[in-house]
Amino acid sequence: MTALTRRGFAAAAALTGAALTGRGHAATVTPGLESAGHYRFRLGAFTVTMLLDAGGLIDGPWPIVGADRPREEVAALMRENRLPGDRFQPGFTPVLVETGGARVLFDTGNGGAGFVPRPAGGRLAERLRAAGCPPESVDLVVLTHCHTDHIGGLTEGGGPAFPNARLVVGAAEFDFWKRWERPGADPADNASRSAEIFRSHLLPLAERTRFVADGAEIVPGIRALAAPGHTPGHLAYHVESAGQRLLIWGDCAHHEVASLARPDWHALFDMDRAEGARTRRRIYDMAASEGIVVAGYHTSFPSLGYVVPAGTGYRWIPVTYQLL
Ligand SMILES: [Zn+2]
Repeated sequence: MTALTRRGFAAAAALTGAALTGRGHAATVTPGLESAGHYRFRLGAFTVTMLLDAGGLIDGPWPIVGADRPREEVAALMRENRLPGDRFQPGFTPVLVETGGARVLFDTGNGGAGFVPRPAGGRLAERLRAAGCPPESVDLVVLTHCHTDHIGGLTEGGGPAFPNARLVVGAAEFDFWKRWERPGADPADNASRSAEIFRSHLLPLAERTRFVADGAEIVPGIRALAAPGHTPGHLAYHVESAGQRLLIWGDCAHHEVASLARPDWHALFDMDRAEGARTRRRIYDMAASEGIVVAGYHTSFPSLGYVVPAGTGYRWIPVTYQLL
């Protein structure tokens, strides 16, 4: 794998004051580190580009990670890793895979109405243009799941943001959100807002969407891998070209230190928290034992790393020059 490029720097000064809310959880986005807008590498005959959709610091990682643990326990783990106990900078990193036959985009970021609204989030289209792959050139949009920070970028200005793309989503995921009804739920909570964005952004595109399950071939070299718990139909994707492999694991980690070190801690946004924990262990074990490079949507940009066993959990080794 060769040819790494980093280009495009975030205008961090524009981030202050954008509010976001989760399930009973409110945070303010403040400027974080400036980050490269995209990061590109070769995977066999494929070209892979990591694209940063959102930046800035939010409250956390507790209770986003460690929802069932005391705040101080999570903060202590952060301090051991030389990180602040009460603020963190998650990645929001869609992945573009160019196979030679197709431009395949995994997840669409926050768009105008996702978990991190503009101007801090919703920057994917701008990143794609800067990377030389404008939204109109995307052939296939593949979704890991239907939370707002993954499907919010499907729509732009009232129309499809990827006008020439077909879509792929987990059949179980689509069915779950299509049937979603929770009378009395707080309309501001993460699930309610995801259901709303699903109805406005994805449901109208159903006719151009393919519904898949575990093991489905998306295009030659790319297969779906069931990873339920975060949402009922959450899918990871395994990408392979000329013997080189990449695991796109969606939201199997919300924090590269805490989720990996303590996979059994509950994640606030997992819809089935026990199943989310089981899936983390299974996916981390696969990534570690098979030595696969991982694209972790919410890990720090460029959101690429390896997983190794550590103590009773795992450790994330960020990619530096391993891909050269
Ligand atoms: Zn997410």
